[in-house]
Amino acid sequence: MTVTSETLTQLLDQATQQQMFLEMFVRSWVDDYRSGGGTVYCGKGCRNCCSLAVHTGFAEALAVARHLDEEQGKGVEKYAVTLRDLVQGVRELPQYLRLHRDEMGFCPLLNAEGACSVYPVRPLTCRSLISTRESAWCGADFAKIAPQEREAFLAGLDRKVVSFPSHYVGVLQESGKELEEAGAQQMRALLGFALYGNLGVLVHLCRKHDLAGAALQGSAQALRVISEAGFDHPLLVTMT
Ligand code: SF4
Repeated sequence: MTVTSETLTQLLDQATQQQMFLEMFVRSWVDDYRSGGGTVYCGKGCRNCCSLAVHTGFAEALAVARHLDEEQGKGVEKYAVTLRDLVQGVRELPQYLRLHRDEMGFCPLLNAEGACSVYPVRPLTCRSLISTRESAWCGADFAKIAPQEREAFLAGLDRKVVSFPSHYVGVLQESGKELEEAGAQQMRALLGFALYGNLGVLVHLCRKHDLAGAALQGSAQALRVISEAGFDHPLLVTMT
């Protein structure tokens, strides 16, 4: 297998195409849903879903890393290092997600106006999260919500379209996952392995530890870079 910097260009191009495809699908789905009387609450300045942990493939993270200036890069580094230290000893996904929501705050790529600073290159995960309920529900901790209120929320969901018991549109999330898997397969075909992980962590590794350069040298070198930077944690980065 011959791997060159052209390989990265191919991976980035494919990630862009996948994002454009999903963007069109989301727009057309939302238009149809609205014209049938449904309500979608996502809009500019609405940011509560940006408090959730975002995980993505390597190519999408590399595209974000290349989009950032020094100041944004510092914000991402702070986020990644804080998360790395926070998850030491954590092995279960639910605990990780809870810790992330409670301790990490908003995505480091959210700007002071409450908008995504990398909107043109935001990953599939962010693009596929479309809410059928008010934004307050996107950052809600259901463990802290009274049973009656929780039941009213569940009863109000449009079960034909949501990924129950969440209020996000199921078909769009599934489409995002399928595209991510296609990206992983492309990476396996071109590099021999696929990398997936927390967006901020992967972006930081690309910016500060040249993860892309290491990936071109093979899986062992990529793993070495991840490990030396202290991010060899299965909830932060996985290689398949
Ligand atoms: S990348 Fe953008 S859309 Fe995604 S969580 Fe971060 S700020 Fe929000």
